[in-house]
Amino acid sequence: MSVVDRLKAAQEAIARRARDCGRDPAGVTLVCVTKTFPGEAVVPLLEAGHRVFGENKVQEARAKWAPLRARFPDVELHLIGPLQSNKTREAIETFDVIESVDRPKIAEAIAGEIARQGRRPRLLVQVNTGEEPQKAGVRPQEADAFIRECRERHGLDVAGLMCVPPADQQASPHFALLAAIAERNGLNELSMGMSADYELAIQLGATHVRIGSAIMGERDYSKG
Ligand SMILES: *Cc1c(COP(=O)(O)O)cnc(C)c1O
Repeated sequence: MSVVDRLKAAQEAIARRARDCGRDPAGVTLVCVTKTFPGEAVVPLLEAGHRVFGENKVQEARAKWAPLRARFPDVELHLIGPLQSNKTREAIETFDVIESVDRPKIAEAIAGEIARQGRRPRLLVQVNTGEEPQKAGVRPQEADAFIRECRERHGLDVAGLMCVPPADQQASPHFALLAAIAERNGLNELSMGMSADYELAIQLGATHVRIGSAIMGERDYSKG
């Protein structure tokens, strides 16, 4: 199967699962995760009409997407990896959605860059639902206060939440926890679910599923 065949299969699976749950398939966006893959691997997906993509590194995304965007200007690029404050300027220049807002220093830096550049990417707060020490994201019990701080202190328009559940656990309690935090904070966007569990995430309310390997194939990290 080609990447385009796998994209179509994933889109069909998303639509089927949404309908099975009584949801409108248009309410679930497929974010195709192209990290580690070169631009030429992405071109067939763009030519097939797909426009929403995710990358986890600022520099890699800028190098890869500058030439692709010259050909396909209506791309929507999501940052799904952690953001360092010294990369905030480039991140605001490059991304349309930042899914990994997770600490006061970053919120402040983002607010400063939005004011400077006049670009307003959509912002999601990443929640470390499994409270894993090595993982990015605010702890669930700190999420409400952090969202309030983003809104009130930094004037940021938080659109939703994102999580990456622990690899060795059932994902459903993590998805349910993220949905509950979003609900009580009046947030509409839920980015949750990856190749292995996106159908489950749709059942639990995902508005964005981030699918990499099920479309692109296995990643080879040895090439850096
Ligand atoms: C790599 C990555 C994905 C995609 O993972 P797959 O299992 O390949 O679908 C989704 N979300 C985040 C945050 C990632 O880093």
